[in-house]
Formats: sequence, C-alpha cells, structure tokens
Amino acid sequence: MLDVCLLGCGGMMPLPGRWLTSLMTRFNGSSLLIDCGEGTQIAVKEKGWSFKPIDTICFTHYHGDHISGLPGLLLTMGNAEREEPLTLIGPKGLERVVNALRVIAPELPFPLVFQEIQGPEQTFEQKGYRIKAFRVNHNVTCCGYTIELCRAGRFDVERAKAAEIPVRFWNRLQKGEEIEHEGRIYRPEDVLGPQRKGIKVTYCTDTRPTDSIVKNAAGSDLFICEGMYGDPEKAPKAVEYKHMTFQEAALLAKKTKPKEMWLTHYSPSLVRPEQYMDEVRKIFPRIYPGKDGKSVKLGFEEEE
Ligand SMILES: [Zn+2]
Ligand SMILES: [Zn+2]
Repeated sequence: MLDVCLLGCGGMMPLPGRWLTSLMTRFNGSSLLIDCGEGTQIAVKEKGWSFKPIDTICFTHYHGDHISGLPGLLLTMGNAEREEPLTLIGPKGLERVVNALRVIAPELPFPLVFQEIQGPEQTFEQKGYRIKAFRVNHNVTCCGYTIELCRAGRFDVERAKAAEIPVRFWNRLQKGEEIEHEGRIYRPEDVLGPQRKGIKVTYCTDTRPTDSIVKNAAGSDLFICEGMYGDPEKAPKAVEYKHMTFQEAALLAKKTKPKEMWLTHYSPSLVRPEQYMDEVRKIFPRIYPGKDGKSVKLGFEEEE
C-alpha cells in the first residue's frame, strides 16, 4: 500500500490556502518527499503526517519554489534528534545548492547522502521505492520522477516442492533472497512466476511536454502533472516560461493513459482551476484539479 499526498498545488509563491507544490508518499515505514518549497513543513503538519520517517527528498530543480523550504525542514528534523542518514536526490548542482542553503542550518545530528542525477535518466533503489529521475524541459535543468513499488511474481508451491526446497526457506525466496544451503543454491526465479504489476506514480512539474514524459509516465496509477495555466489563451506564455497549460497536460494524459491525472503547480493568477475541467475532460476524462492535501491510498491489484 502506497499512501500519496499532494501537499500543495501552487507554483511560484505560496498563497493563503494554497501551499507550494510538493508530494509526500509513505510506504513500509519510510516516507519520501519530492520538492520542498517555502511552507512545506506547514503543509505536512496540516496533513497530520510526520517528518520523522522522511528518509528521501527528491528535487525536480533548484528554483526557490521547489527547495527554499529545505533548511527549515532540516532544522526541524535535527531538533527531533534524527540520527539516521537522509538521502537527497536531484539534478546537477545538488550538493552545491544544498550546502549554500545549509549556511543557516549548519549543524545537523544526521548525515546527508547526496545522489546527483547523472545523464538524462537514472534509477535509484531506496527503502523499497524504485525512483526513476528523467530529464524534462524547463529553463534550468529539471527532472520528473516516477516512484514505483515493484511486485514479485506469485510463489509456485508445486515447483518449490518438486525442487525439494525446504519449507523454511520459502518466505525468504519469496522476498527475493538467494539462499545457499548444504552446497545447493536456491534462487527466487526457481519458484516465482513472472513479475506482477506494481504501483507507479509519476510527478512532473515545471516543464514543457516532452517525449521523456510520454515514455516514463506511461501506465501510471497516478500522474501528477504541471498545469500552470487553465486558460488556453495563455499557451504562448506557457511556451515562453517553459510551463504547460491544462490542455497540454491533458494531451500527455491521453498519450500515457494513467488511471488518474491530477493537475498542480498553478499560477498565482489562476483562481479557480475547476472551471476548466469540463473542457480538458474532453481530451482525457480522468483528470482532476489537484488541491492541497489531496490524497489517495494505492494498493496492489487484486488477482483472480
Ligand atoms: Zn515551480
Ligand atoms: Zn521552475
């Protein structure tokens, strides 16, 4: 089960009732945050979730509305006497930018682990999450992310029995462990069926539509996408500032077929995103306006 919360849905500046866009997920006791703009701490508190299990923070890029909340969050985690390492993932410049911000949060009781994204795409395995970063197209280097929970194949009891694998090893094999015992090696692939469908969430803000988004977002359970402007007449502005209109986001949904798309990163001038929904649903029916604290619990698909 993956718990997902869009903590805020604003772009550029936080507004009363609209925190800056960031995403928080919870899985198996470890939380992950994507982006941390000004006020993200308050948005987490409003949701009633805890900072303590945050083990990973991913950054799309280093514009202030996506990272300026980091020093405050680090101080809060330090005041809670965290000692476990915190992993930070982000495009080129990660360590330089974070260390500059840390001038105001110099002493932390826990280590920071920097994972700077190399090349146009990179995958990270972190606390049960498979995190894939991929380059998008903004006016500075910017990445989108997919967060996946993979699911192993079904355990085949008949095969395990036929191979005379001791029952006490079954559970460990099911979890993907290879076991050596009395000169024999037991491998998960000997007893597991084909990999089953996992859970996939895609998060993309601050970009024009790109082929990399189409490729990576395909088949998401949830696709949270940039939608800076609702009014289609703002399309030239979206091109100029490297953002997207709702219509452009909906076209990406049409191509990638997520179970749901939520729009986010609204321009401060966009007051009522709901008013454009009827139009964009003609392009893709399962599109919804993001709002602060919008949440969903995603479970693995039941099998017949
Ligand atoms: Zn932004
Ligand atoms: Zn930006």
